[in-house]
Amino acid sequence: MRAFTAAALLTPLEVVERPLLLVSDDGRIVEASSRDACAVPPSASLTDFGDAVLAPGYFDIHIHGGAGFDVMESSPDALPAIEGLLAKHGVTAYFPTTVTAPMDATLQALERLADAVEAHAKSLLHGEGARPLGIHLEGPFLSHAKKGVHPPDLLLDPTPQLFERFWQASRGHIRMMTIAPELPGAIEVIALAAARGVCVSLGHSNASTAETHRGMAAGGHHCTHAFNAMRPLDHRELGILGTLLTSDSLTADIIADGVHVHPEVVQMFLQLKGEARAVLITDATAATGMPDGTYKLGRFDMQLRDGVCWHDGHLAGSALTMDLAVRNVMLFAGWSLRQAVRLASANPADVVGEGGQRGRLVPGAIADFVVLSPSGEVRSTYLAGRDGGESLRFF
Ligand SMILES: [Zn+2]
Ligand SMILES: [Zn+2]
Repeated sequence: MRAFTAAALLTPLEVVERPLLLVSDDGRIVEASSRDACAVPPSASLTDFGDAVLAPGYFDIHIHGGAGFDVMESSPDALPAIEGLLAKHGVTAYFPTTVTAPMDATLQALERLADAVEAHAKSLLHGEGARPLGIHLEGPFLSHAKKGVHPPDLLLDPTPQLFERFWQASRGHIRMMTIAPELPGAIEVIALAAARGVCVSLGHSNASTAETHRGMAAGGHHCTHAFNAMRPLDHRELGILGTLLTSDSLTADIIADGVHVHPEVVQMFLQLKGEARAVLITDATAATGMPDGTYKLGRFDMQLRDGVCWHDGHLAGSALTMDLAVRNVMLFAGWSLRQAVRLASANPADVVGEGGQRGRLVPGAIADFVVLSPSGEVRSTYLAGRDGGESLRFF
């Protein structure tokens, strides 16, 4: 048994002052309550983090790479490097996210990513970085009108047969799919994916209000990077953006780097969605954590200049880290650390159906947690109650 204490703990639906976090030897939370309510068991070793705040490990459901590597690369060095970088920034679980690529490259990437998901699923104590829990398929079922940097010649209309090929290659580890609901065949594929437990996220879409509602009725319940690669808001025809901003039936994620979406629009989004329905993603690329230069995004090149990723004059993913996104929510919207942390932990876990296990510091959950300064800087990251070694200690 291990015991941890600090100035506060964010469950993150509540703040626990003077907390005691008890973790079993197999990496699960036994107790997360106030020190006044619970004594340290004599057998437990107590670690006191002083003025720090304990928060659930962050969960990034949309990330393409980092540390110079893309998740679709075949190099065996790629995922460990990305996972190490993620953990440094407080992320303990993630969905490696594909971009639209030739069919063979996508199928091979899905097979490799499935290997990684299965390797980590064997033991909570596997590896020293963030855990890949499943795959996010972003493309090829995207709108030509809102493709972003996805290669237009490789976009495809959805069919059950195509979805089945991706599903088989991933051995059922596709957990999230971004799809434009207005495409021919999309409604059938949304229903098929949703029936298999995939989080269907509407995005890269030019959908009208009616098309968005049809996507929701078929099983779409989330939206990918609100405002980006999305039909803009019209005051007579809500479209996908107006619908996601006003519908309590949709959760949505946002890239809160202040570049993809203006800080005041991030604030507006948060006011409209509220703390229960907003999710932070990074959409981070290989350039994250790297100096200015040229990096891969899927199969194509993009350039990092002054912290912004470009491809052919378009924004191409981000170099954002989740800890910065959390602090940006505090900065842009004046939200508390607890509220901001919720958007990076409990909410993404709930959206993809992992809420019982992850994203909360409550009894029974996996003891993945971050030790934060009172203003949200990551001091260290713990995976299943164990610190990740020297490389994950920053104080
Ligand atoms: Zn995208
Ligand atoms: Zn993306």
